[in-house]
Amino acid sequence: MKIGAHISSSGGYLAMARTAVSIGANVFQFFTRNPRGGDAKALDLDDVAAFNVFAAREGIGPILAHAPYTLNAAAARPEIREFAENTMRDDLERLEHTPGAMYNFHPGSHVGQGAEAGIELISAMLGRIWRKPYGTTVLLETMAGKGSEIGRDFAEIRAVIDRTLALAPDAKLGVCLDTCHVWDGGYDIVNRLDETLEEFDRTVGLGRLKAIHLNDSMNPLGAHKDRHQKIGQGHIGVEAFRRIVNHPALKDLPFYLETPNDIAGYADEIKLLKGLVPC
Ligand code: FE
Ligand code: FE
Ligand code: ZN
Repeated sequence: MKIGAHISSSGGYLAMARTAVSIGANVFQFFTRNPRGGDAKALDLDDVAAFNVFAAREGIGPILAHAPYTLNAAAARPEIREFAENTMRDDLERLEHTPGAMYNFHPGSHVGQGAEAGIELISAMLGRIWRKPYGTTVLLETMAGKGSEIGRDFAEIRAVIDRTLALAPDAKLGVCLDTCHVWDGGYDIVNRLDETLEEFDRTVGLGRLKAIHLNDSMNPLGAHKDRHQKIGQGHIGVEAFRRIVNHPALKDLPFYLETPNDIAGYADEIKLLKGLVPC
């Protein structure tokens, strides 16, 4: 089972990997920079090299880099779109130093321009970025549909992928499915997990599914709220997570927790989730 949690990047790569091991994780997610700002620390290449050795030895990975929340490729204002493009490009340049990593981003919010216009802007940005062949696979995260978020259903994700590939056929694109977000988006993964995954397969293709964000939800099905809860303490519930982590289409994917927990809480949650999988 590949399981881990979102970990603070303040101490660097090797520190994150050590923290992961200390909580029973073999994967982890981190922010590439301040999630609410834009500045990234200069990459410490000694730290990265030490991390790559440690990760290979300990069997850690794939690690998942999360773009900042402020990255909005579908924004109305050109300077915000420019920030999104520059940030993603810079993140992908940096991730060339950690082969095997994946990069996850929120597709964006169309802020009243309409989903169609938003999808077009996001695809155009990805198309420009993928003029260069990066090694890292870029994942579009399924969203809760809060406000004007793109990615509120599988069809919007598919549309961005299709249009990007029309511009950049070699773009490495995948999807990160967030359990809280799809639940809040109206997909009943508690009572209709098989049907939801079949719909994903028909719409996007399960081959594109590369990562799972494991979060319970504070809100009922279809609430479009995006408030994460600890596993088993929200509306999704522990039995649904038992089916999720054991599902044949999901069980070999890396699972990343983004629940409201400190490090000790994540250690407990990882233990709980490992306990749901028969050995
Ligand atoms: Fe996210
Ligand atoms: Fe998420
Ligand atoms: Zn969320």
